[in-house]
Amino acid sequence: MTNWNAPTDRYSGDVRLSGIEQTPAGLRGAEDVFVGPDSVAGTLYIEDAEYVFTDVPATGTTAGEPTVQQAIAGDLEDGYVENVSGDVVIRDVEDVFVAHDATDSLDASGAEQVFHDSTATPTAGSDGFDVTLTGWEHSRETRDPRNGVLIRGAKNKIRVRETTQDLTVSVIGWGNEVHITGTNAEVTVCFVGRDNRVQVGPYLSSSTAVDSGYDNQIEAAPIPPEAVIETSKSEAVDDATFGRHKLIWQEPADKDWCPNCGGEADAVVARRQKDAFFLFGAAIWSYDDGGVSYECESCSPHAVGPTSLSEDTRRNVLR
Ligand SMILES: [Zn+2]
Repeated sequence: MTNWNAPTDRYSGDVRLSGIEQTPAGLRGAEDVFVGPDSVAGTLYIEDAEYVFTDVPATGTTAGEPTVQQAIAGDLEDGYVENVSGDVVIRDVEDVFVAHDATDSLDASGAEQVFHDSTATPTAGSDGFDVTLTGWEHSRETRDPRNGVLIRGAKNKIRVRETTQDLTVSVIGWGNEVHITGTNAEVTVCFVGRDNRVQVGPYLSSSTAVDSGYDNQIEAAPIPPEAVIETSKSEAVDDATFGRHKLIWQEPADKDWCPNCGGEADAVVARRQKDAFFLFGAAIWSYDDGGVSYECESCSPHAVGPTSLSEDTRRNVLR
């Protein structure tokens, strides 16, 4: 067993284990413990925890029995581990959340259960996050971040607006929510924990790169028909007040696959036309009601969003 005969600082509430020089450093008696990226230079030992959610594989063994040099204990709520220059020992805690690159060596042999997504493809990681939110029940809003956002803790909320760059969203903890809107960008999500939710707007694509935990989800909003409709029927009719006009408009079609390109689609619209004689905006004689054709967000030249359209075309469509 680890030797804990070390000078102990007693605290109450949330604690931060940071910048400690006497290592191995010990933390005992906290509720949840969040270990951030690049925070433990040595081995992270987890003894007597319930669940451990980790993006770092637990490869350490019980062979090491570190002698704690300096410890934090007391009537603790949550613990945040960051920037420790050697080993860290965590004991008598509830759940532990270990971020990507938190440590090179993790010994979680004292955990009841370890959640680690071993199928995850190692992501390059974000070159620093534009927004980092740490703690409990915080909320933050940001627009058009360059690299990504990081949440560490529980029940936090981040709203990201006007996203135009590819983003990494890293969620470490439980019960957090991220809401992202924007256009033409790819959202890559890494979950370490449980019950986290990332909502992604219709003009973004999204994927889960890491899911070390359970009940985490991305909710991707479908593309609305408005994204494909160039001219609505009322807009078309507005232009026809008197005389013979050929109107072309599009309207939502209640289909989940596209008869034109054959693919599954969110936003299938019908293109209709009418060639008629109008008086005061009403068609009093039809020459030809035309046929109907279909298009969707994948095959329409008017689609807005992550399609094969060029950047310039998309910008024009958005105006
Ligand atoms: Zn189509």
